[in-house]
Amino acid sequence: MARTERETYRNLRRKLLAWYSTEKRELPWRRSKDPYRVWVSEIMLQQTRVEAVIPYYERFLRRFPSLQALAQAQEQQVLTAWTGLGYYRRARMLHRAAQEVVAEHAGQFPSDPEEILGLPGIGRYTAGAISSICFDLPEPVLDGNVIRVLTRLFALEGDPTKAPLSNDLWDRARSLAEGKAPGDLNQALMELGATVCLPNTEPRCLFCPLQADCRARAEGKIHRLPELPARRAPKVEHWAVAVATRRGRYLLRQRHGETLLNGLFEFPSAEASKEPSQQKQSLVQMFRDQWKLGCRVGEERFVHRQDISGRRVFLHVLSAEVTGRSQGVRWWFPSQVEQRAVTTATRKILTRLLQESSSTSKQASTAATKSSNRPVKR
Ligand code: SF4
Repeated sequence: MARTERETYRNLRRKLLAWYSTEKRELPWRRSKDPYRVWVSEIMLQQTRVEAVIPYYERFLRRFPSLQALAQAQEQQVLTAWTGLGYYRRARMLHRAAQEVVAEHAGQFPSDPEEILGLPGIGRYTAGAISSICFDLPEPVLDGNVIRVLTRLFALEGDPTKAPLSNDLWDRARSLAEGKAPGDLNQALMELGATVCLPNTEPRCLFCPLQADCRARAEGKIHRLPELPARRAPKVEHWAVAVATRRGRYLLRQRHGETLLNGLFEFPSAEASKEPSQQKQSLVQMFRDQWKLGCRVGEERFVHRQDISGRRVFLHVLSAEVTGRSQGVRWWFPSQVEQRAVTTATRKILTRLLQESSSTSKQASTAATKSSNRPVKR
């Protein structure tokens, strides 16, 4: 690296570190450099916002306070503690990696970046974050926030998710991390992207420590960068979801075999079309074929929309009456459902059903009170 380039990076590092020391948010995972805690936070933060992660992170660590406790747990216990965060593959990988650390590293989280990268569910970004934050190693990080800051700072055009620009960005991120306090430096870059160099809205350049160095700002290119590839239109799917109740309990099934949601509980559902008659037919057929149960499907209660990995799924929630007995399904009270690993959609649907039934009972009791207060005609 040429002398002027070294100077440039030194100057950027200095500004970023000074800004981070006064402006960083107080977040629970920043109170410790324990690799287990940092690792859990990094995995939870993938595809989930900071504010949403905090309560789950604190609850998860109360349940599994150490890597050993996590490694010894049953997978169902880990999935239950993860309930609400979604993307359960992350929880499964975290659990598997904890068992691998116990089996192959005598329970000691490895400090070698290559060994960290070799653990299940850990990619280049997470390995860089753990290596720099916990072990003070000059390893770079590159996530969506850092990509945005770097492409704007250096006015870099092209698709940042593909070579050659992605390689260039990793090189620049490494040049920044190669100095003192690489963990703070990496967190400063991520923090700047999350709180100042914002996507979609006006970036808060006046509060940015790098405004004098920012080439996109000088060249009027901020809104064009980064040049992310256009998202493909999601594939639309319709599913019919059966909500059957019996004396205050709800019927759920456990998923088996499907790799992504294997072991989780959910309301029984069948792929269908937009057509109500076809939705009902799919459910009746599924109950009969899978569990030899009778099913009478009622009206649609509401539609819950969920966007998952390139798919837009419309879940048509239908009341159902189920007759017969089967080992394949279970009836749970809502409080029992909360204790189990359920799919994110099931949790959201159940919350809405409970809210609706509580507001219906409130309206009924208000109406009853009004009618009892009305003067009686003589
Ligand atoms: S000056 Fe503005 S566009 Fe440039 S890095 Fe800072 S916040 Fe981002």
